[in-house]
Amino acid sequence: MKYFNKILIANRGEIAIRVMRACRELGIETVAIYSEPDKNSLHVKYADEAYLVGEAHPSKSYLNKDKIIKTALQSGAEAIHPGYGFLAENSEFAKLCEEEGITFIGPSWKCIEEMGSKLGSKHMMEKAGVPVLPYTPDGVTSVDDAKKIAGNIGYPVIVKASAGGGGIGMQIVESEAELEEAIEKGMRIAKSAFGDSTVFIEKYLVKPRHIEFQVLCDQQGNRVHLYDRECSIQRRHQKLVEEAPCPIMTDELREKMSQSALKVAEVSGYYNAGTVEFLYSDGEYYFMEMNTRLQVEHTVTEMITGIDLVRQQIKVAAGEELSLSQEDINLHGHAIECRINAEDPLNNFTADPGKIVRYRSPGGPGIRVDSGIHMGYSIPPMYDSMISKLCSWGVDRQESIERMRRAIYEYVILGVRTTLPLHHAIMNNKEFVAGNTHTHFLKEEHIKNS
Ligand code: ADP
Repeated sequence: MKYFNKILIANRGEIAIRVMRACRELGIETVAIYSEPDKNSLHVKYADEAYLVGEAHPSKSYLNKDKIIKTALQSGAEAIHPGYGFLAENSEFAKLCEEEGITFIGPSWKCIEEMGSKLGSKHMMEKAGVPVLPYTPDGVTSVDDAKKIAGNIGYPVIVKASAGGGGIGMQIVESEAELEEAIEKGMRIAKSAFGDSTVFIEKYLVKPRHIEFQVLCDQQGNRVHLYDRECSIQRRHQKLVEEAPCPIMTDELREKMSQSALKVAEVSGYYNAGTVEFLYSDGEYYFMEMNTRLQVEHTVTEMITGIDLVRQQIKVAAGEELSLSQEDINLHGHAIECRINAEDPLNNFTADPGKIVRYRSPGGPGIRVDSGIHMGYSIPPMYDSMISKLCSWGVDRQESIERMRRAIYEYVILGVRTTLPLHHAIMNNKEFVAGNTHTHFLKEEHIKNS
């Protein structure tokens, strides 16, 4: 069955190729878009057709909604896959697609809009009985009120942008004396980064784990989960290593958390693939937000379930009913993902774009590489520094770690600094091997390099 004849992929790099691979398997033609510096990129070569959409700056190219829609219409693409980042969680873009009769491969624009507000979605989930951390339900309306509520919540608290993403604008506040400045700064950053200055305050957990659930829902109201992922190893509140399943998960906790995740999907009217993010601490978990798109780390879920999430996304978007029931989804083995970023782990993770002068990717049993680079490729400075995702699978966590260590040894990327040596150090760290991770793991373990 052919779900679509042609799909436009509104993205670049590894994720554009990942989506095109699923399309190729399904016999669907692919349309790439690219900016001027990306004209020789792999995703452009991989696609059946490719169109220049604008200059280097994302606002002129990968965020240029009208131009992308026009390209889809001109090329005859019936659907658009947004990947992650760029327009993936832009409700206005999803709405434009609908108005132009193009299928947006994701949830409804209304759902993207509602879940795009961290504050609004917390409200919704609190009402539905999903645990949330104590917070200011109306956002921050005045400094005096904020001081009162923060005092009741108890310090430390965190100031967050309601429309936030990518860890931007979050401020940890240790005492009342710091609150006013943090609110002002948070609002300023929120306004300039997201065009919405709404901030709110919530309880700050000192050493939580980030645990998330993958959900998959069709337009007929069927919903399944594809287990959990642990994403606690982060830098600047952004993930660096992810694994599935979470190493401390128990049957009882999984039952509770997965039911909460499915509840989130149900009350938000969610369809397509999505991720429900929780913070976990001392046996308790709290809904943090829902990401209404495919995640970078969907790969580890694919490895432990054997289910191709992009194929599923395409099927659901075409209006097909899920052919999987919860009982069909089995967890097999353990998978880890290391994000290979072109940045210098020894210098505060500063981006290190440039030309790759030597490249050899790893292989062998249990290894999966999703990358957008090759020998001679020049990494442009204006986009995401993640150039490759290295994933390993093993029958258990130990084997998955051993395979990851071996794959890191095999992986050769010369010409730019990368996070590879840091991943080598993490994979050999005693606490990591024991599964003892939390969101401050990198800082506390003083892991810098091998
Ligand atoms: P973003 O959408 O900007 O990525 P999230 O709300 O998903 O932000 O949070 C990203 C990370 O920030 C979390 O994985 C966690 O490490 C940290 N964080 C967020 N909220 C809290 C909190 N209340 N307590 C402790 N850490 C938090």
